[in-house]
Amino acid sequence: MFLDVKDLAVRKLPIHKSYAPGSIDYHSSEIKQVGPLDVDATAELFDGDIRIAGHLDTKVELSCARCLEPVVEEVSRAFDLSYTPLPKQSKPEEERLKDDDAEIAFYSGEGLFLADVLREQVLLALPMKVICQSDCRGLCANCGANLNHEECRCETHATDPRMAPLARLKQDWLKKQ
Ligand SMILES: [Zn+2]
Ligand SMILES: [Zn+2]
Repeated sequence: MFLDVKDLAVRKLPIHKSYAPGSIDYHSSEIKQVGPLDVDATAELFDGDIRIAGHLDTKVELSCARCLEPVVEEVSRAFDLSYTPLPKQSKPEEERLKDDDAEIAFYSGEGLFLADVLREQVLLALPMKVICQSDCRGLCANCGANLNHEECRCETHATDPRMAPLARLKQDWLKKQ
């Protein structure tokens, strides 16, 4: 959906849309939308700025920061955004990036794509890190085994069966004391 400045200049635009998984590109292999993205919002032109306010809901699959197994995050976010027309005199890329840091959003040309707005809002809503369960044991740093599902080989080495007779001798000795 394209939000055209010329249309918005005439009237407010109510938005009720559902984006199926795969229809928005998140530019990341680690982020996968796994449920529809539903958006209810209003777009309008306000002092030359495109203003979009509303909320979105979706489900996104991420990887557990410890064991890398998939984790589904529910995303629900309200937003109220303004996009200013990009100044005619186009600035060098570096300066535009600085503007991004200051959280000034721009649109260029005739308007902007709703999907671009939604992608950014979903990315902002996601936590930096997710964990599949609070007691996730993660992966063994040594052999890569998922310690939630298996005992890794490194642990077996720690209790080397060859050491068992020695341990038993020590126990017997302690009992006699
Ligand atoms: Zn995990
Ligand atoms: Zn291991």
